[in-house]
Amino acid sequence: MKKKQKNILPRKSNTLKLSFDTSWTYAPAPESRTSATIQPRYDLFINGKWTKPESGKYFETINPANEETLSEIAEANAADVNKAVAAARNAYEKYWKKLPAKERGKYIFRIARMMQEKSRELAIIESLDGGKPIRESRDFDIPEAANHFFYYAGWADKLDYAFPGKKTASLGVAGQIIPWNFPLLMAAWKIAPALATGNTVVLKPAETTPLTALKLAELIQEADLPPGVVNIITGAGETGAALVQHPDINKIAFTGSTEVGKMILRAVAGTNKKLTLELGGKAANIIFEDAPLDQAVEGIINGIFFNQGHVCCAGSRLYIQESVANTVIRKLKDRIETLIVGDPLDKNTDIGAINSKKQLETIHYYIKTGIQEGAEIYESSCRLPSKGFWCKPTLFLNVAQSSRIAQEEIFGPVLAILTFRTDDEVIEKANNTPYGLSAGVWTDKGSRIFNMTRKMRAGVVWANTYNKFDPTSPFGGYKESGFGREGGLHGLMPYLHLSNLIPNSTRK
Ligand code: ADP
Repeated sequence: MKKKQKNILPRKSNTLKLSFDTSWTYAPAPESRTSATIQPRYDLFINGKWTKPESGKYFETINPANEETLSEIAEANAADVNKAVAAARNAYEKYWKKLPAKERGKYIFRIARMMQEKSRELAIIESLDGGKPIRESRDFDIPEAANHFFYYAGWADKLDYAFPGKKTASLGVAGQIIPWNFPLLMAAWKIAPALATGNTVVLKPAETTPLTALKLAELIQEADLPPGVVNIITGAGETGAALVQHPDINKIAFTGSTEVGKMILRAVAGTNKKLTLELGGKAANIIFEDAPLDQAVEGIINGIFFNQGHVCCAGSRLYIQESVANTVIRKLKDRIETLIVGDPLDKNTDIGAINSKKQLETIHYYIKTGIQEGAEIYESSCRLPSKGFWCKPTLFLNVAQSSRIAQEEIFGPVLAILTFRTDDEVIEKANNTPYGLSAGVWTDKGSRIFNMTRKMRAGVVWANTYNKFDPTSPFGGYKESGFGREGGLHGLMPYLHLSNLIPNSTRK
């Protein structure tokens, strides 16, 4: 493979090289923090009330862009989990199960409207707590989260039409555990379909990004949802494990690492709990020689560098057809020089802060591994802020298919670049990872798109675009990326018992 790539252009080519950073830069355009209210301390949201933790413990959530403490957050122990599950069970039996579906829909719709009204504040808090650029939280996370509530509000009273010939019944109490990369959006992905299908919820956000879920709890309180229908408890892995193991939970929905997903699978085995897992990914983005190259480069950049690569479906492996490899790599190098890394609240920022020190260490570990494995590193020459957790956008060239940076999830702004000659070769290479969450294909030929999407073992395959989401589209993986789907009609199924309307024995 290394031999084939010898003709890749050196960094100083005589092709047009734009000079950045010396002549001009954007003036800072920071979003003001004043419209965001963050309490100095948050308790647990149980049974519609803010409840002190039985553990008596609190932990800090910090701003990863400057390491300042934003708030103190209650740490729920097993006794707190018990309380939350009991509240959810009581709310299920007493109110939610009995409420006409149309009324359920109204509550969900109300939450969606309130999220829209508070969208600016939610976006600011999402960027402060998680490090993601305000452009991303303002234009994607928050509107998409509200859209999920709108979408599933519509399904609440139409479940009988969603699955023809089937009778639907809610499950009971859903335990939901979410990660730190899209905190409010993941909460919406989990809570909205659970409520629409008549279940009650205990949700645990990630320990580094609990704030927008707690703001959502405030909205839910204001929306006057019956107490206990949604409970939000905070804490780290131990709290999550206590929720998974609780005997009165009917369904677990988890999004997070494959490692923890496997632990949850083992904990749930042999119980009656339904389970969906949305785990890691190592998506292949594939550029064919007939692709619109500039558009493709923009899609690649969007797929891995925006949101700091903190996306389970990030296009972290790039396969370029050999004949256009030099051109694409030159364009990528030029483009990463223009990416603005810095203050997440600045509207010009493309790449914000890495979510935590731990995650930054993981990314650095993989960058070191890539160099040791013999790949060629190319980093943007941008300067990084002195405080906080930051990583330059990084390309690795001459990457071997078997190398760890091509096989394992890094979850950072690091792109492994490989080349290929034929369609069959790239299908085999792209499928050759333990994961199967998403992929991207860039080509001018419709027939090639259909051929690729049929043969790629990935839950989502984007064609001539990347990272496009919609509440109506199901999302989920194959292999070690998990099972079950979220979003769309499919996203209702994991929260329902489906039985035949006409018993089998009476069928002709
Ligand atoms: P990451 O490694 O990306 O931080 P994790 O899978 O560790 O992802 O975290 C995702 C979510 O799972 C977080 O809310 C975290 O607190 C929770 N979690 C971590 N360990 C466990 C566990 N053993 N059981 C249940 N939930 C857990």
